[in-house]
Amino acid sequence: MTHRILVMGDNHGDVRSLRRVLDDADNDPFDYVVHVGDYTNAWRTARQDDEQTGKERGREQLEAVEPVLERFDELAAHGLVWVYGNQDYFGDLDYELSVGTEVPDDGVVTVGEVAFTSSLDHVDAETVLVTHLEHWRLADQFDGRAHFCGNSHRGRQKGRRLNSAFLQVRDPRTEERRVGGYFVAELDEDGLDVEMRSIGELTRVECERHGERGVQFQPESRGCMFCNEEGTLWREMCASGYYGLTHDSDRETVDDEDLIDYAARLWEDPPEGFRERFESYLAELADDRYSPLTRADGGALTLAENSYSY
Ligand SMILES: [Zn+2]
Ligand SMILES: [Zn+2]
Repeated sequence: MTHRILVMGDNHGDVRSLRRVLDDADNDPFDYVVHVGDYTNAWRTARQDDEQTGKERGREQLEAVEPVLERFDELAAHGLVWVYGNQDYFGDLDYELSVGTEVPDDGVVTVGEVAFTSSLDHVDAETVLVTHLEHWRLADQFDGRAHFCGNSHRGRQKGRRLNSAFLQVRDPRTEERRVGGYFVAELDEDGLDVEMRSIGELTRVECERHGERGVQFQPESRGCMFCNEEGTLWREMCASGYYGLTHDSDRETVDDEDLIDYAARLWEDPPEGFRERFESYLAELADDRYSPLTRADGGALTLAENSYSY
């Protein structure tokens, strides 16, 4: 049985892009609509102004977005299934969306015939994981049925995981508005089949160097996320490798050599200079404040306390 799912997220207070998706998708039959969060830009507003202004903005934006979300809930046979994002303070705003089904982060909810969770502890072969964050550790080892996420605004499909890029973002420097797109995912026993639908600038990016890390969906001007910023690749290699080496054991540290070996084996054909470059990244690990790993007392690698998206 195939489930047809509209996947989108990261509209950041923008209602127009959501309406465009509705116009675009209106005549299509969907079983579910999934929104991966960031309805608002409350957190960003709070950083620019102050917390109170941010949270007020967040409440207004949730109220403004809700009627449009209700139309998505009606569009799909089993309605809208959603999570909050970090911009929405993960739901800690003075307004609660009451539309569709919020995916629980402490259990599983069954909607129609599909089980959804937002908790990594509840993932199994029957369950669809919906999270705002990408969770780098799952990039190569994921036992669930599918994983839908957002947050990084870097769209990508790798295996059963789809990051839905963004609907609308503003450039942090220029404030320029960018409109992205949404996805039609068909989920069946064989996995996930994904079609990108741009309503703005999204294009399909298949990088020659990094194609093994999935198909990307980015504005043409940005191109491959790993070519643009190599740190992105190393963070994922660190998280995925560390998880692979430790999750079935009592180990809490790994050494550089094992991690590099493990990461290299994730590739059929690693990009040129892979080992050397990963080695130098690890040598300068402390310079990357987003890295999921850090040095333990003896110098071995261990999980950083505040990893952004391990
Ligand atoms: Zn976002
Ligand atoms: Zn690349």
